[in-house]
This record gives sequence, C-alpha cells and structure tokens, in this order.
Amino acid sequence: ALTHAQIILWLQQCALLFEKNSDYLTDLDREIGDADHGLNMNRGFRKVQEKLPEFAGQDIGTILKTTGMTLLSNIGGASGPLFSTFFIRAAKPTASLQNLELNQLVEMVTEGVEGIVSRGKAEPNDKTMCDVWWPVVESLKHANEQNLSIKEALSQAQVAAEKAAENTIAMQARKGRASYLGERSIGHKDPGSASVVLMIQALANSIN
Ligand code: ADP
Ligand code: MG
Ligand code: MG
Repeated sequence: ALTHAQIILWLQQCALLFEKNSDYLTDLDREIGDADHGLNMNRGFRKVQEKLPEFAGQDIGTILKTTGMTLLSNIGGASGPLFSTFFIRAAKPTASLQNLELNQLVEMVTEGVEGIVSRGKAEPNDKTMCDVWWPVVESLKHANEQNLSIKEALSQAQVAAEKAAENTIAMQARKGRASYLGERSIGHKDPGSASVVLMIQALANSIN
C-alpha cells in the first residue's frame, strides 16, 4: 500500500522537483505562454512544503484537501485552480484513509482528473495537462487490473506520462493562453503537461 508517510513524501518530492525544474517549466511557458509556469508551480508547492509538519497526524483526505487549498491561494493563473481542483477532488475518496491500496490510488487520481476536466473543459488533443492526465489514469487502471504492485504501477505510469507529454509537442493548443498562438503553438511541449510528469515522477520517487 501507499502509506500516509509516502503521501507526505510525495508532496515533499513535488516541492523538490518543482524547485529544480522551475526554470525548465518557465522556459517551456516562454515559448507558448507568458513565462510564469515554473514560478507558479514552485511557489505553490513551496507553500505546501511549509504545511508538511501539520500533516503528520492527519488522514490522507485532509492532507490532500489542505494541499489543494494551499495551491489555490498560491499558484494563480490558469493552472492554479486546475491543480488545486485535482487535490481537492482527490481528497474525497481518500477521506479518513491512512493508506491507499492500488485500487484506491486509481480512484483518487481518477476523481482528481475528473475535477480538472469538469473545470477546464479540455478535450483530447487540446494540448493541455489533461493530455497527460488521461494516459496516466489509463495506465494506472490497467496496472490495477493486472494486479501489479504500486511500485510497478507507478513506474509504468511515469513512462506513460513522459510519452504523453512528448506527444503534446505535435498538438495545436485549443485551450488556455497557448491557444492564442493558433498553429504557432505546434512544435512546443505543453508546460502544464511537463508538470504532470513531475508530479507522477514525485509519486514514483516516494515509494523507492
Ligand atoms: P497561465 O497560462 O495563466 O499563465 P500557467 O502558465 O501556470 O497559467 O499554466 C499553463 C498550463 O495550464 C498549460 O500548459 C496547460 O497545460 C494548462 N491549461 C490551461 N488551460 C487549461 C484547460 N482549460 N484545461 C486543462 N489545462 C489547461
Ligand atoms: Mg503561464
Ligand atoms: Mg500567467
């Protein structure tokens, strides 16, 4: 199972990876946006990191909800409310849980992604973070059906996420700021998609 301590480690790893990759994400956003995505994510998860001590005695749902609320008040932009919604919705099926089995992790991520889609209204190939979230959900569901370990499931989800983020390069943006560029958005990786890769990588790191 994914333990309470590993969920906290996940958030800590997110803070670490978003700090390390802040310039990379901002550079991606400079190509097709307004050059703030790395700054946004780094600021948001730094605030989450400050909350980690208070998470010690809390259930997973409460931790995820607080994470979402913290991101909401600190990320801003288009992606802020979307990543916030992910955590706030993911908190629902994990309320009062201290550990997650793979099927519960699948439920958590599925709910979170449904929240992002209902808020952002992205469709497949719109060149948004959803183009990575959907393959991640599919990969996790598949791993669960195969009764894989959480470790193996996350390693496969990470590969799926990286591939999906590469696939956004060829897409034309139809949502968010990058859509203003029309065809000129083609040929660049979507910054929000790169952030989803980092979040999955952080989760995989937390169980190693
Ligand atoms: P802003 O564009 O307001 O500066 P960010 O730079 O932080 O916000 O985030 C941009 C990212 O947000 C994009 O790369 C894309 O992945 C994501 N995004 C934008 N609009 C949507 C949407 N409607 N649905 C899903 N993701 C979106
Ligand atoms: Mg931006
Ligand atoms: Mg912005």
